[in-house]
Amino acid sequence: MHNSNVKYLALILALALPLRAQAPDPNPVPPKLIAPGVWFFLDSYNGYANTIVIEMRDYLIVVDANYPGRAKELLKIIPTLSPKPIKYVFDTHAHGDHSYGNSTWTAAGATTLAFSGVVDDMNRYEPERWHTAEQKRDDVRDLHQPDVERPKQVITGSRFVLKDGEREVDFLHFGWAHTQGDGFVWLPHERILCTGDAAANGPRNKLWDADIANWPRVLARAIALKPLHVLPGHGDAGGIEILAGQRQYLIDLRAAVAAQMKLGRTPGTIVLDLPASDQNWVRKDSSDAIEPTYNELKAHKPAGSLPHTWR
Ligand SMILES: [Zn+2]
Repeated sequence: MHNSNVKYLALILALALPLRAQAPDPNPVPPKLIAPGVWFFLDSYNGYANTIVIEMRDYLIVVDANYPGRAKELLKIIPTLSPKPIKYVFDTHAHGDHSYGNSTWTAAGATTLAFSGVVDDMNRYEPERWHTAEQKRDDVRDLHQPDVERPKQVITGSRFVLKDGEREVDFLHFGWAHTQGDGFVWLPHERILCTGDAAANGPRNKLWDADIANWPRVLARAIALKPLHVLPGHGDAGGIEILAGQRQYLIDLRAAVAAQMKLGRTPGTIVLDLPASDQNWVRKDSSDAIEPTYNELKAHKPAGSLPHTWR
C-alpha cells in the first residue's frame, strides 16, 4: 500500500474509533427544571433511564447511576448546571439501566448509595445479568469489569435523611414492589418524589423481579405523601396520576389474570382486556406482564422470589 494511503487509512480508523462507543443522544432534550436546583433528565435512547440531579448547599445528589455511557455524558453535562461536586449517586434499584454506571461515578469521586435490598438483588442476579449486558452494550463491555460495582454506602432500615439547612432529601423504602430493594427519593418541602421503576410513565415496566401483590401497597404509601411532582424511572415527569395509574394497572392486571386462571387458562391462552385508563401502562408484548403475574398467583409467592430469567 502506498505510504499516503496508509496514512489515510490510519486517519479513517482514528475517526471511526469513537463510533464504537454508544451513539450520542440523537435528539438531546434539555433537562427540565422541576424546582430551583432540581433537574429532571428524560431517558429516550440507548436503553437509558431517567436521571434527577438535586442541588444541596455544598454538593449534588444524582438519582440513578444509569448505564455507564449515560453516566459519562452526565458527568460532562452536570457541571454546566452547577459547579458543586457530585457527592452521592443513589441507585433506586439493582437493574442495569439504574446501577451499571456505579463505577463510572465512583471513579469521578462520588459515593454510590442504595438500600440493602439492592445489594441483595445484585448478589442474587449478578454477575449473570452483567455478562448478558456486556454482549449487548459497548458501554458495559468497555469497562472490562467482572461484575456490577456494589453501592459503596448501604442503607439498612427504611429511611435515610440528608439535610443541610437549605434542603432535606429523604430516601425511603416502602417494601418490595418492582424489585425488593426499591428506593424512593422524597423532597418534603418541594413535594417532589423520585420513584425509580416503582412507577413508570408509559408501557415501560417489567414485572419479572416484582412482588405484584405488594406493589400497589407500596404505591399507596407513595401516594399518601401527596407529591406535587412525580419523577418516574422511565417516561416523562408528571404528578400523582402516574402513581395512581401505575397502581390501578397492577391491581387490574392481577385481577384479570386471576379471573382467567379460574377459567382454566394458562399464560399462552390468557387474553387481557384492561380498561382504557390502564392503557398507558400496557406493553405491546403482554406475556411480559401475564407470565410473572400468573406465576405469582399460582405459587402464592412474589414473582421475583420464584426461579425466573430476566427478559
Ligand atoms: Zn427496573
